[in-house]
Formats: sequence, C-alpha cells, structure tokens
Amino acid sequence: MQQVDDPKLVPGCSIVKPRQIGICGTDLHAFEGVQPYFTYPRVLGHELAAEYVKGSAKGFSKGDLLTILPYDYCGNCFACRQGKTNCCSSLSVMGVHQDGGMCEYFSVPDHLLIKTNVLTLDQVAMVEPLAIGAHAVHRANIQAHDQVLVMGAGPIGIGLLHFLSMLRIKTMVAETIPFRIDYCRTHIPGIVCIDPAKENMEDALLSHTNGDMPSVIFDATGNLSAIDQSLSYISHAGKYVLVGLQQDDIRLNHPQFHKREATLMSSRNATKADFEFVIEALKNKSIDVCPMITHRLNFDDLPEDFPHLFENKSILIKAMISCNHPS
Ligand SMILES: [Zn+2]
Ligand SMILES: [Zn+2]
Repeated sequence: MQQVDDPKLVPGCSIVKPRQIGICGTDLHAFEGVQPYFTYPRVLGHELAAEYVKGSAKGFSKGDLLTILPYDYCGNCFACRQGKTNCCSSLSVMGVHQDGGMCEYFSVPDHLLIKTNVLTLDQVAMVEPLAIGAHAVHRANIQAHDQVLVMGAGPIGIGLLHFLSMLRIKTMVAETIPFRIDYCRTHIPGIVCIDPAKENMEDALLSHTNGDMPSVIFDATGNLSAIDQSLSYISHAGKYVLVGLQQDDIRLNHPQFHKREATLMSSRNATKADFEFVIEALKNKSIDVCPMITHRLNFDDLPEDFPHLFENKSILIKAMISCNHPS
C-alpha cells in the first residue's frame, strides 16, 4: 500500500473512483509470480465497479456507476479493424500490462467506460469475469445439437456454465473440488457433473453423450495435464476452445486430431458487445451473482488479507474488495 498523487485529468480520459474490485485467478497468479505477460511492479485490478468523478466522457456525469473495459486496444491493427479489439496485437490490459484499478482514483480512456447505472456494485464488478465466459460461448457458435463439456468449475468455468445453461443444450462439467461441484449442482439447471478423480472420464462422457463424445469442449482450468487429457475427448467434427491460460506448449497427436477434422481455438478477454450482453443478462436476472461471491475484503486491509486468499482456494469462487474511501 502506497500513498501516491491523484491522477491528473488529461484530454480523452476521465477520472473514476473504484468502489468495488473483483479478484480473480489472474491476480492470484500475478501475486505468486506465475502469470504469463506480467512485469513488476504492477498495480492489480481489472474487474471494476467504479463511480464517475470528472472528465468529459459523453453521457457520463458525476456519481454514475460504471464498469471499465480493461483491455486498452490500438484500434488500427488487423484484429481491431475486424472489431476484435479483445485480441489487439498491441493489447494492454489494465492490471496486467499496465497499472490497474486497485487505487483510490483511476484515470481511464473515455471509450473504455461502460455505464451500468441500474446494477448493484456486486453485479457491476462481476461483469468483466462473466464477459470472459460470454465471449467464449459466442465464439464457439454453439448449435442446438451440440453436447458441451466444460473442464473446470472455477470462476471462469462457472461463468461459461451460466451462459451455456441459457442455451438449454446438454452440458457437462468436469470438476474435482466438492465445493465447486455443489455450486454447479445447486445453481446450474440441468448440469451433469463428472468428477475425474472418482470416475473414468471417457466412460462417463461416452455414456452421457450416447457414444458421440462432446462436440464442444471448453478448457477453463488453464492446467496443461487437464488440456492434454481433454483434447482426446473431442467428438469427430468437434471443437476445442482454450479459455484458461497456462505457460507451456500444447502437444496434439496429429492423426487423432486430423481424423476428427477438429477445430482448435482460443478465446481471449471479451469485447464491449460481450460486456453489454452480460449487463443485459444481469439486468433481467438471468444470472444471480451473489452465490459466486465467497469472500469479501476491505481495500485498507488488503496488504494483510490478500495473502490469506491462498489458504481458502478450494472454497473460493470470487473475492470482492470494497473501497470505502471518503469522497
Ligand atoms: Zn479477471
Ligand atoms: Zn489493435
């Protein structure tokens, strides 16, 4: 915790006051020093609910509740020109490549502000992590006949599962942590939970898909051995979507992959359209964020309390930081 000068108001940017900040796997990995793309020192914080303070962003006035698209893009590269600003070739993510929002006042480019007035602070701070799942589901272009497997029911996997359940298709999740299995059984309608520590995955998948195997698999573990294993579960003509991220090479058995005419894709971050899709889903109460918030911390206690999150990892879905600084 450091005392720094307030950011200066510069043209094209506004000053906002973070009110609530979500902590995710990226933040925990960054703290441990095992997250790709990181350099230090770095102020974390990319899952933000904030209040508009000052600036000249169109349509915003003091006190407006907002979230921030934390992916600062160039607007000119090939990806940006296709509207895929989420994977800009010179992308700079707040709290990852540049300093993030774990601060009292934060300067943000106007075009990255997204108004969320009718939502609660909990909902607003959940928009970014949920948008990761929404983006991956959109990207997979799922059809009514698809049978889907999600590897891992951590915060990202859970987001994926909520958006998949809106599509009312056959959905399975592979997870070993009892707390997460309970969450899925309680909050995701129609979900099939498979525990790879207790069941033979391949047998279970064959029986739940009438022998077809899953036609779309999302990896939300970011774990190399889980990815290696699950690549062999794709159905013929199926797809594999990498949502989680890990640091090593992935190896494919070419004949196995080839004969399936399989598709391998990654899904990175989310676009403004995904954020707006999530905001709509929260507005019409398609997703209840409350059960996902398992831990709460106060901004001023972070130096002491943040490291304790690691002790609670097996019962952690989302930790939220409340910022109660006087105005
Ligand atoms: Zn995150
Ligand atoms: Zn770009």
